[in-house]
Amino acid sequence: MGVIIDKELCIGCEQCVDACPFDAVEMKREVPEVSDACTLCGSCADVCPEGAITVPEVERAQDDRAAEAKGVWVYAEVRAGQMPEVVAELLGQGRRLAEQLDVELGAVVLGHGLDGAAGELFAMGADVVYAADDPRLADFNDDIYCQVLARLIAEYKPEVLLAGATSIGRSMIPRVATAAATGLTADCTGLAIDPEKRLLLQTRPAFGGNIMATIVCPSARPQMATVRPRVMKRGELRQGAQGRLVTVSLSDEEKSLTKVLEVVQSLEENVNLTGADVVITGGRGVGGPEGFQLVGQLAEALGGVVGATRGAVDSEWIGHAHQVGQTGRTVAPKLYVALGVSGAVQHLVGMQGSDTIVAVNKDPNAPIFDVAHYGIVGDLFKVAPAMLSRLKQLRG
Ligand code: FAD
Ligand code: SF4
Repeated sequence: MGVIIDKELCIGCEQCVDACPFDAVEMKREVPEVSDACTLCGSCADVCPEGAITVPEVERAQDDRAAEAKGVWVYAEVRAGQMPEVVAELLGQGRRLAEQLDVELGAVVLGHGLDGAAGELFAMGADVVYAADDPRLADFNDDIYCQVLARLIAEYKPEVLLAGATSIGRSMIPRVATAAATGLTADCTGLAIDPEKRLLLQTRPAFGGNIMATIVCPSARPQMATVRPRVMKRGELRQGAQGRLVTVSLSDEEKSLTKVLEVVQSLEENVNLTGADVVITGGRGVGGPEGFQLVGQLAEALGGVVGATRGAVDSEWIGHAHQVGQTGRTVAPKLYVALGVSGAVQHLVGMQGSDTIVAVNKDPNAPIFDVAHYGIVGDLFKVAPAMLSRLKQLRG
């Protein structure tokens, strides 16, 4: 059943039209009409001053999995035999969540030739490691990885499962959530616990980054979230720490319908933005591809890498591998220098965790100055060369 509008009570104020996040309300002959785009979110009913809108309660299936689920898990991905930094970051955050929930922190690692992986995971904070080491898992493959992780979830019933919002996580974790019949919040920038309800509060930018939404998964388990690299702080390394190792064997039925024939290194430019300590970013203010030469010179002088806004990338002044922000990379370097960057919210979500932010912009009202620790109002073509010559002077 759809939204019910009481035409007697409606005064035609149109507040519901503006309130609908799905553009589902339109005024027809001074009365609101609701289209099929309606999701029954209730935003229109909330703003109606006359109480003219009623949204029917959606009946949701009862799910009692919350009562039996226990433990916080981190999916520890392995890429070319290495665990990326995001695994340590997730375990750091997972430890904080597990302590609040007073449960164990588990790590799941799948692959082949995993010698030493469990020890690394204990050192990063895991209390228990579930390790499946099998030739069928030698190359990452959504199909079989998903089957094994979903089976472990069904068997051990974790309360929370975190994974990196990496290409592997983004490809596999939605399938795992579907197989486990639970919800997933992708690309979280904040995770916390509601101690009373034992709920994972999953915060992420929504509606093009204009609002931060906190999402909960009240009844289905596990509560699943992916988190971008460099958003969470890693925990302290506990060298030599011991924990419980659960060796997972694959059954004969667990096999993939697809086969990896060859792994080809991406031909795209490889830019280590995520792990860089210094990032010098150019925005549309650099004026064109040649402006990035100056950005590159400053990056070289400071031992950093070149970042870019989507504005610059969309103008084809530089490749997408350099893009910082919501649809690019998230960075958290020690030093972030923004040259000719306005500071749109979609850019800020990708860099505001940086230790020190220096912004150069000729517009004193540019929003980048709201997050900058040092702001220089001026022409980047004068300021950046001045920085370069000062750096040269300092180095003799
Ligand atoms: P502009 O907004 O055009 O700003 C240029 C700035 O340069 C201005 O502030 C100007 O004052 C300054 N300037 C000009 N000349 C000079 C000079 N000589 N010296 C000093 N300053 C100068 N953006 C991202 O960056 N990353 C993302 O991942 C991203 N994802 C998005 C996702 C969605 C769904 C949407 C809708 C948008 C996304 N955007 C993203 C785009 C974002 O909204 C902005 O449009 C973009 O960040 C603007 O880029 P800019 O700052 O380079 O350009
Ligand atoms: Fe729009 Fe939500 Fe009202 Fe439906 S219930 S018309 S989606 S505001």
